[in-house]
Amino acid sequence: MAKVLIIGAGGVGGVVAHKCALSPVFSEVVLASRTKARCDRIAEEIQRMHGRAIKTASVDADDVAATTALIGAHAPDVVVNVALPYQDLPIMDACLAAGVDYLDTANYEPPDVAKFEYSWQWAYRERYQRAGRMALLGSGFDPGVTNAFCAYARDHLFDTIATVDIVDCNAGSHGHAFATNFNPEINIREVTARGKYWENGKWVEIDPMSISDTFDFPGVGPRKAYLIYHEELESLVLHLPGLQRIRFWMTFGDEYLTHLRVLQNVGMTRIDPVDFQGHKIVPIQFLKALLPDPASLAENYTGKTSIGCIIEGSKNGKPRKVFIYNVCDHHECWKEVRAQAVSYTTGVPAAVGAEMIVTGKWRKPGVWHMENFDAVPFLERLGAAGLPWHVQEL
Ligand code: NDP
Repeated sequence: MAKVLIIGAGGVGGVVAHKCALSPVFSEVVLASRTKARCDRIAEEIQRMHGRAIKTASVDADDVAATTALIGAHAPDVVVNVALPYQDLPIMDACLAAGVDYLDTANYEPPDVAKFEYSWQWAYRERYQRAGRMALLGSGFDPGVTNAFCAYARDHLFDTIATVDIVDCNAGSHGHAFATNFNPEINIREVTARGKYWENGKWVEIDPMSISDTFDFPGVGPRKAYLIYHEELESLVLHLPGLQRIRFWMTFGDEYLTHLRVLQNVGMTRIDPVDFQGHKIVPIQFLKALLPDPASLAENYTGKTSIGCIIEGSKNGKPRKVFIYNVCDHHECWKEVRAQAVSYTTGVPAAVGAEMIVTGKWRKPGVWHMENFDAVPFLERLGAAGLPWHVQEL
C-alpha cells in the first residue's frame, strides 16, 4: 500500500483527499496547505462521511526547504500538487530534493505575467530523468482526461487524426451573479488572455472571445462556446501525428461575460500592483478576496458539466468522427464528496493519475504528459472512480 501527500486544500484538494482516502491503493493520505484549518475541515468531513482518517499539515509551498522537510517527514510515494500554478516549480524542486514522484493539474505560470506555457516545467526533464523520478503534468480534466481521450483515440479509434475540438461546458447554476468555478485569479487570467489555436503547423492568435460556435453537449443540449487558449493544446500538438488543427472551446453565460467585461474595463482584473492608500495591492488578488470561494459554491450547485473531445480523422481508409465525453452532475458530487463538479472532475483524475504512478502502470523517469502513456488503464479506473466516459460515433 502506498502513501500520498496532497498539497493544496481548496475545492480540488478536498476532492483529491476524499478520493485518495477511498482508494484501494493508498493506505496513508496527508493533506497539507498554507492554511491548516482548511485541511482539518476536510479531514473531519472524510472521517464523518467515510470513516477514514487522514493526516493534515501546514506548509508554504513557495518555500522549497519547508516542502522538502514536509516530504521527508511523511515519506510519501507521490506528491499531488493541487495548490496554485505559481507553486509548480518550487514543489517540483522539493520533490527532486526529497526523491519522490510529482503530479499536478495546471502548468506553471509566473505570478507577474499571465502566460501559460510548459517551457519552465519541460526544463526539469533531464533532472527528473537523472534522479530516476517522474513528474506527470496536467492530470486534471482539461488538461488531463481530455489528453487521455486524445491518446485513446490515437491508439485505438483512428489510423490518423486530422482535427480535435475540445469542448467544455458547465451548464450548472450556483445562484451567484458572478463567481468562478476554480481559483478566481487563475480562472480570470485564463479567460481574459488572447485566444489561440493551432492549424497546419502554426499557432493562430485571436482577440479574447472573438470566435464562438454552438455545440450539442451530451446531457446538456446546444450551448454557445467560445474559442480560448488552453494549455493541453501545447503538448497535444506534439503527440498526435498528422494532426491538422486543434482548438479549445468553453461555454460562458451572458451574465458571466457581462460581469467580466465590466471588471476588466474598470481595471479590477489587472495583475500588476497599484498604489492604494499607501499600500501596493494587485487588483485581481483583491477581487479574489471579494468573490465566493469556489469550494463554497458546491452545496447549492445544480446542473451538469459536459466535457469532451470531438475528433475527426480516418480508420481503415474511411472517414470517422467521434465524440468522447463525460457528463458530471454538480449535486451528485456534493452528495458524494461535498464538492461541485468542476472541482470533482479535476480532483478525481488527479487521484487516479497518482494511482497510475504508484502502481507502476504509468511509471518512467522524466517529465511527462498524460498522452505519453497508454490511456486504457487510466480510463478504466476513471469510470470506476466516478467519471464514466462514453464514445459516440458522429
Ligand atoms: P483554490 O483557490 O480553491 O485552492 C488552492 C489551495 O492552494 C488553497 O488551499 C490555498 O491555500 C493553497 N495554496 C495557495 N498558495 C499556497 C502556498 N504557497 N502553499 C501552500 N498552499 C497554497 O483552487 P482550486 O482548488 O479551485 O484549484 C486548484 C488547482 O487546480 C489550481 O492550480 C487550478 O488551476 C487547477 N485546476 C485544474 C483544472 C483541470 O481540469 N486541469 C480545473 C480546475 C482547476 P489557502 O487556503 O491558504 O489560500
